[in-house]
This record gives sequence, C-alpha cells and structure tokens, in this order.
Amino acid sequence: VREAGGDNIVSLSKATHKALNRRSIVEKRLLLALDQRNLDVYYQPLMDAHTNEIIAMEALVRWHDEEIGTVTPDELIPIAEETGLINEIGKFMLEKACLQAVEWQAQGYSLKVSINSSVREFRDKNMAQSILETIARTECPVELIQLEITEKFALEAESEASIMSQMRKLEQEGITFILDDFGTGYASFRYMQLLPMNVLKIDQTFIASMLKSDKSTQIVNGMVQFGKSMGFIVIAEGVENEDQVNMLKQFGCDILQGYYIGKPALPRELSSLLNV
Ligand code: C2E
Ligand code: CA
Ligand code: CA
Ligand code: CA
Repeated sequence: VREAGGDNIVSLSKATHKALNRRSIVEKRLLLALDQRNLDVYYQPLMDAHTNEIIAMEALVRWHDEEIGTVTPDELIPIAEETGLINEIGKFMLEKACLQAVEWQAQGYSLKVSINSSVREFRDKNMAQSILETIARTECPVELIQLEITEKFALEAESEASIMSQMRKLEQEGITFILDDFGTGYASFRYMQLLPMNVLKIDQTFIASMLKSDKSTQIVNGMVQFGKSMGFIVIAEGVENEDQVNMLKQFGCDILQGYYIGKPALPRELSSLLNV
C-alpha cells in the first residue's frame, strides 16, 4: 500500500512536470512561429439559410510546427492566452483576414470574415485603434469584418468600462460583434442588453444533440426563437447533416455553419464552394 501511494505521488508530479515542460516548449516555438509568420489561417464558410448562399467565412488558426508537430487550437489558444501571445495571434489573424476579404472582393465575392477575439486582447487599451488601423492599412471595407466573442468574454466585458467603450467604438465604425458559443453557461440577459451585439451563434454541442430527443430539439428551437425575439441574427454552428439543416431552417435559423456546409480550409480549396 505504501509503495502504491508513493508511486502515485511520483507519477503525479511527473505528469505536472511534463505538462509544464510541454507548455514552455509550445510557448518557445510559438514565439518563433509568430516571428516568422509561420501560422496558417483556415476559413470555414457560413451559409445564409434563406438563400443557401455562402455569405461569410470564419478565420480559424492552424499551426504545424516542424519540431513539435501540429498544435490544435484547443491546446494553443489557452497557452497563448496565459502567456499573452494571444495578442500577437489576434493581430496576425486580423491582418490575414483583412487581406483575404479584400482578395475575395476583388474576385467578385462579397464575403464577411469573422475573427475570434479573446478578452485578454481587449485589455490592451489600444485594441480598438489597432484593429481600425489594420483595417485601414489593408484597405479592407470595415463592414466586412466581424469579431466573435464568447459568452465568457461578454460577461467580463460587461463590468469593464474600457472594454465596453472599445466595443462601442468598433461597432460605431461598422464592425459586427457575434456572440459565440451561445448557451454554454454564461448567458446573461443583462449583457445581451448592454453590449453592442446583434448576432448570436448557438454552440455546436446543442446542434450535435438536437435530433437525439424531443427535449434537445425544443432547446434549440427555444434558443432560435429567443434570439429572434431579441432582434438577433441567429447562427447555428456544428451543422453536420441534412436533417439538422432542415430542422434549423424550419425553426427560422438565419445562418448555418458546419462540416455539412464546408470544413475549414485554405482559400484556394474553397473556390468551388463559392462558384456555385
Ligand atoms: P470556435 O470559435 O467555437 O470554432 C468552431 C470550432 O468547431 C472549430 O474548431 C471548427 O473547426 C470546429 N467545427 C466547425 N464545424 C464543425 C462541425 O460541423 N463539427 C464539429 N465537430 N466541429 C466543427 P477549431 O478550429 O479547432 O477551433 C477551436 C476553438 O479555438 C475555436 O472554437 C475558438 O474558440 C478557438 N480559436 C480558433 N482560432 C482562433 C483564433 O484565431 N483566435 C482565438 N482567440 N481563438 C481561436
Ligand atoms: Ca468562433
Ligand atoms: Ca463556437
Ligand atoms: Ca467552441
């Protein structure tokens, strides 16, 4: 018994040690990757549920490092948020997305482009100004840019005057805010009234389970009706099959996103979707 207990303590500290070690390696390689602009931006299409047209793309970071391999966003983003490197990732993603939006426009497509923002980026008092500068420098029409913020972000923003005023400024300039991961546990009627937002995206976990029981179906229906009654444009993410598409259209959902519409991909791989 004593030996087993001892083993446990040793393996626990080993695991912690391993995790810390991994974190510092990821951080070191990430610094280098940002310096060399060695990250990729994939885009996932969003389809208008009323017209079946692709109307927007969400920019998602991808990182394959030659030494440590592929690092998924689920590992990368929390580390970047802790170390502050998320600010650099955000700037990189925004610039790439602006240039891509301009390119799509030149090709005759009017596509909005969404970038995911972390609350930590908005703790920088110059965030709004920096965003507007990048948009101006890349000559991207400001109305094409959308920022996705999570419910967790919204809840914190509500009590931080500087974040709120930066969001208001961006919204006045023509940027759209999308409330991402809607329903995952932080929803508050108050911030939905206070923050300058009129688009919400129902979290993919609800879409994944929506056809599994009557209750799950009615939860999604309820979320769509709630959003619409608040005057929000409602997006469903994680749409993977035709049955979900039909049900969501029936509920009056405005925009659909998910593998069934299109997986995240490089712009050149998306042209066939746009040409239909
Ligand atoms: P998210 O913003 O909720 O993005 C949606 C995630 O679901 C993406 O994962 C996407 O690839 C995946 N997805 C899309 N359609 C489907 C589907 O039909 N089925 C399933 N099972 N999954 C689908 P990804 O790219 O791994 O990103 C994970 C999260 O990492 C994102 O969740 C977002 O919170 C964060 N993230 C990604 N890129 C960035 C970035 O540039 N900046 C920030 N701050 N966060 C990012
Ligand atoms: Ca998102
Ligand atoms: Ca989401
Ligand atoms: Ca998510």
